[in-house]
Amino acid sequence: MKTMIITGASRGIGAATAVLAAQHGFAVVVNYHKNKIAAEKVVADIIEGGGKAVAIQADISKEPDILRLFAETDRLFGNLHSLVNNAGILEQQMRLEEIDTSRLNRIFSANITGQLICAREAIKRMSLKYGGQGGTIVNVSSIAARTGAPNEYIDYAVSKGAIDTFTIGLAKEVADEGIRVNGVRPAFIYTDIHADGGEPGRVDRIKENIPMKRGGTATEVAEAIIWLASDKSSYSTGIFIDVTGGR
Ligand code: NAP
Repeated sequence: MKTMIITGASRGIGAATAVLAAQHGFAVVVNYHKNKIAAEKVVADIIEGGGKAVAIQADISKEPDILRLFAETDRLFGNLHSLVNNAGILEQQMRLEEIDTSRLNRIFSANITGQLICAREAIKRMSLKYGGQGGTIVNVSSIAARTGAPNEYIDYAVSKGAIDTFTIGLAKEVADEGIRVNGVRPAFIYTDIHADGGEPGRVDRIKENIPMKRGGTATEVAEAIIWLASDKSSYSTGIFIDVTGGR
């Protein structure tokens, strides 16, 4: 059984991806930060549906936590085939001149450094160069990489721009080692992340300006992630799927 690690899978897009991954035959590592109860519910739902999953706490902005996440995965499941770099944070909407350095460090360590370290650990296990079987990495970026998120969270947008650049470079770096690296850029998805930015109703405020005139669901993003993580996308690397209702 192939194993998939999904960071930030206790809720939202990560949780939807975990459920779908199990349906596609992956043994799923449901990583979470603080919400143990929600992560365990995702795992229980997967097991009830006949799948295999475990919840592992790790703060992906901390390197020792990431190393423990991967070591625990080796011990419990082994055979790592896919990493979904999904965990990401944003903070209260504000202009740049109000953003302090500690916030910048929080955003960049969770959204950029953590994803790079997770990918590094995955490559050590998956690369043909190190005796692995190959695999896939899917980085969850955002349409904010294109829009810049002015007046909301430029810091978050910058972190997602970095993830797009990372995806392009890493895809080429490991392309002949059996590893494909791709990105998904969602926008306007009904999850709790918007409440973290101080505007729980953000998607409904914006939806009239979305060509499809509606927000998206976490499962609609998960479908794109699973396609890129699976063999169905076997000749694609360094690409992005926008899941944005036409924006
Ligand atoms: P969400 O509902 O806020 O869920 C975030 C998840 O990440 C939770 O499971 C949370 O775990 C986990 N997490 C947060 N900080 C973490 C850390 N330091 N270490 C490990 N896990 C951590 O978010 P979402 O909307 O599903 O977003 C998922 C991804 O999609 C993010 O990268 C986000 O930037 C991107 N995205 C979302 C949208 C959207 O409209 N929703 C649009 C564009 C991009 P706990 O609950 O345990 O704390």
